[in-house]
Amino acid sequence: MKIKVLGCSGGIGDGRHTTSFLIDDDILVDAGTGVTRLTREALSKVDHVFLTHSHLDHVLSLPLLLDSVAGDRAHALVLHALPEVLQILKDHLFNWSIWPDFSRIPSVEAPFLRYSPLAIGVPLRLGNREITAIPANHVVPGVGYLLRGPSGSLLFSGDTASHSALWELADTTTDLKHLVVECSFPIAQADVARASKHYCPETLAADLALMHPEPAVWITHLKPGGEVGIMAELDALLPGRVQALEEGMEFDL
Ligand SMILES: [Zn+2]
Ligand SMILES: [Zn+2]
Repeated sequence: MKIKVLGCSGGIGDGRHTTSFLIDDDILVDAGTGVTRLTREALSKVDHVFLTHSHLDHVLSLPLLLDSVAGDRAHALVLHALPEVLQILKDHLFNWSIWPDFSRIPSVEAPFLRYSPLAIGVPLRLGNREITAIPANHVVPGVGYLLRGPSGSLLFSGDTASHSALWELADTTTDLKHLVVECSFPIAQADVARASKHYCPETLAADLALMHPEPAVWITHLKPGGEVGIMAELDALLPGRVQALEEGMEFDL
């Protein structure tokens, strides 16, 4: 199982792309602007998209991906997300006003897009890849993911503020090799982080300090322009413990 970081920024500009991970060549976790880095051939191979939540920075490439390659594909792309997230997308994105409803074209019987509701904590197996939605604590319904391959697992927080389920899972996942956790704002914007339900260095360091296993810890969803400052604040609180996730990185599991 190969996981490639297509995008991991909290925004865009100067080559930054928003959240998307490519698993092997057929699965996407989130569909932020990182997806736009793929060739059209690579886009056409994506059979499954797993969403953390409905916010634009995590979904905005999906409508264009479908429009660009759906006609070349032999079967529907399967969109996995919480039922509440699927409903938001049906109501506000694939509603014909913003974008066509690809679950009804070219026909209801053989559509380009199929919705697949996710249940938290229930592992889904695709070949030798196991994908499990985990709880998150965000301003809209959302999840993170535990991604497991034959040689270990990677825990991805999604967009979240502090919550115990993430750290209980980190503690009990015996094959955990990597933790990818968000830290969107610097300490000076702790009030913004609190209101928008994201981590800042103080809240993340407090949770990380209680974690017993020692996987590699990668920081994602840093706000554009704030990367150096946020990482410096984390390093001051937890010297040498965390590294910034970067586009193009690959993990083998
Ligand atoms: Zn969000
Ligand atoms: Zn986000």
